Amino acid sequence: SKEVAGGSYHFYDEKFGKRTIESVKYENALYRALERDEFTLYYQPQIDFSSHRLVGVEALIRWNHPEEGLVPPDIFIPLAEQTGLIVEIGEWVLREAVFQLKKWQDKGYTDLDMAVNLSAAQFEQGNLHRIVKQVLAETGIRPGQLHLELTENQIMRNTDLAISTMNKLKELGVHLDIDDFGTGYSSLGYLQRFPLTTLKIDRTFIRDILFDEDDRALTDTIITMAKNMGLEVIAEGVETIEQADYLASRQCMLMQGYYFSPPVPAKKLENDFLTNK
Ligand code: C2E
Ligand code: CA
Ligand code: CA
Ligand code: CA
Repeated sequence: SKEVAGGSYHFYDEKFGKRTIESVKYENALYRALERDEFTLYYQPQIDFSSHRLVGVEALIRWNHPEEGLVPPDIFIPLAEQTGLIVEIGEWVLREAVFQLKKWQDKGYTDLDMAVNLSAAQFEQGNLHRIVKQVLAETGIRPGQLHLELTENQIMRNTDLAISTMNKLKELGVHLDIDDFGTGYSSLGYLQRFPLTTLKIDRTFIRDILFDEDDRALTDTIITMAKNMGLEVIAEGVETIEQADYLASRQCMLMQGYYFSPPVPAKKLENDFLTNK
């Protein structure tokens, strides 16, 4: 378990009882973090390996805690989900990410895409498409530049609701990407019911792609089926040139991972990737 200076609340706690007591304070801390603008977005490049060009970025939230420093999302997103605050945090993420894309656009980088992660609660909230529509209108960002990432399990929770929400989003023209693909319960065939644009192959398959025949077979199948279904496919968690070469040999050219760059602040992304213009 990890205690904040002053011992006011805990980030993790193995003892459930303790967590229950502390969770109220924690919820307050998350709420204050939102008010005090302590959340920040890092951006991880998505590369077209055939041209080695930056095609987009994925926005990934961090909590810039005054005493703790940078807190990763795995620590606070689950609690934000439990308390429902994830809806507000998620809306902040969406707006911040699209406004950042607008800044890059104004600097002349007009071909970049932005991928934003959605939580289940945010996805199932009735007015998501209105929020998306509004931020696109405010910024003038083309809908086709925005990718909303959902997991299989999120869309399988209530498939009718998911399909209707996705149809509304699809009508706006935004991309709907399935994150962590291959780890959930859905079958590829079943996915044809959903208005998807992209499958994102989970990084656990990419990790052992050179050594594990099953992971390789599964990755090959996902790539082939995605193409047959007219979907884009992107691999995440690409850490080595060998993994990248393998994926390229299978015609999966869109990649994201530490081999290219970890998630970085907007300024660093500009310095590292957007300076040759
Ligand atoms: P995710 O959406 O699957 O994001 C990819 C995670 O993999 C990121 O962790 C990223 O830093 C990490 N990663 C990227 N490249 C590599 C690699 O080559 N190797 C390895 N081992 N890892 C890599 P991060 O930023 O800590 O985010 C963790 C999770 O937190 C995300 O997984 C996502 O589920 C959630 N998350 C992050 N930001 C948001 C957000 O704004 N909203 C919501 N609802 N969830 C978020
Ligand atoms: Ca993601
Ligand atoms: Ca993922
Ligand atoms: Ca994940």
